[in-house]
Amino acid sequence: MADAVSMPSARQTPAQFIVDISTSEVYLSSLNTLDQLDPSRNYFLRGLLPEWNYRFVFGAITPVAIEVAEKHKASPQTAALMGEAMLGAFFLESGTSKAEALKSCLHLEGDGPVRRIISFAGVDGRVRAHAGRPDAAWSGPLEEGKGSGQLKVSRWFSESQVYTSSVEMRALPLAHNLEDYITRSDQIQAFVKLQSEIIKDVPVSIAGCMIQALPDASVNDTVRAADWLEQAWPHLRTGMGPPAGESVPEIHSTPLKVLSVGQFQSYCDCSSERVRNVLRLLGREDMDALIQEQGQIEVHCEFCGKRYAYGVGELDAIFTSGAAE
Ligand SMILES: [Zn+2]
Repeated sequence: MADAVSMPSARQTPAQFIVDISTSEVYLSSLNTLDQLDPSRNYFLRGLLPEWNYRFVFGAITPVAIEVAEKHKASPQTAALMGEAMLGAFFLESGTSKAEALKSCLHLEGDGPVRRIISFAGVDGRVRAHAGRPDAAWSGPLEEGKGSGQLKVSRWFSESQVYTSSVEMRALPLAHNLEDYITRSDQIQAFVKLQSEIIKDVPVSIAGCMIQALPDASVNDTVRAADWLEQAWPHLRTGMGPPAGESVPEIHSTPLKVLSVGQFQSYCDCSSERVRNVLRLLGREDMDALIQEQGQIEVHCEFCGKRYAYGVGELDAIFTSGAAE
C-alpha cells in the first residue's frame, strides 16, 4: 500500500500498525510483513468487520498479566488464567452497546484449585485482578484451575449504578463461559477466543479475540464472521502471516476497520476514601469491637496489596464526618 502510514494512536502507540489512510482500514496482509501482531506484546485493537456487521476486539496482555502475577506471587498457570480473565473483563467492557460503562468486573467462583478470580477492566485498558489461591498449580488444561461454578459480571455506569448478572460457569475453557454469558445474559451473538501459552514456567503469550454481532447482522453475516474468526485466529494468535512466497489466504484481505488502539495497564483505584466508605457501611459497632481487639483497623487491598490502617482517633473522624462521600 503506497499511502500506508503508521497508525495514529490514541494515548500510546502499541505497535506500528499499517492502515490505509483513505479508508482507515487495517489489512492483515500488510501486518504480515511487519510481524507486528505479536501476542507477547501489550496492546488492544477495537473495531469493526464492516462486511458482516460485526465488531471485534483483539487483545494481547502478556506483560501486564506477568506484572499482576508477580504482585500476587501467582503460579504460571494462575497468571495465565488471571490474564485471560482480565482480557475477558475487557471484552465485556468493550461489548457494552447501550451506554459506555466506567468499568466491568468478571468474577469467577469455581471448584477448581484457584477457587476464585476477580478481574476488572476499563475501556481505556486499565486492568487488575486477584485470585483466591494464586499459588495453585494443576496438571491438566488451564480451565481446570477455575473448574465449574458461577460466572458473575458487574458493570458500573456510574459510581453508584451497578448492573450485575450471572450464569452457570461450566467446566469448559473461559472463552466458552464468556460466550455463554454474552449470548444468554447480554443476548448478543458473540464468539470468543482466549489462548495462553506457557513455556518453561513463563507465560509467553496470553491473547484473545472477541467478535460480536451488531444489531443489523443477519444470520448469514454471523456464519461468515464466525468462519472468519476460526480461520484468522491461528494467525492472530501467533502474530504470523503465511510464510514468504505463499499466496495470501482470503482472510488476510478482509478489511478490519480499526476504531481504537491502546495498551493495557495494571491499575488499582483503591483509596483511603473508598476504604473509609466501606468501614462506614460496616458500622461503628463492629469497627469499635475490632479496634478494641486489635488496637487498629487494617485493610489490605486484595488487588494491589496496599495497606490502610486506622487508629481510634481516625475512626472517630470517619464516623463523625457523616454519610458516605
Ligand atoms: Zn488497590
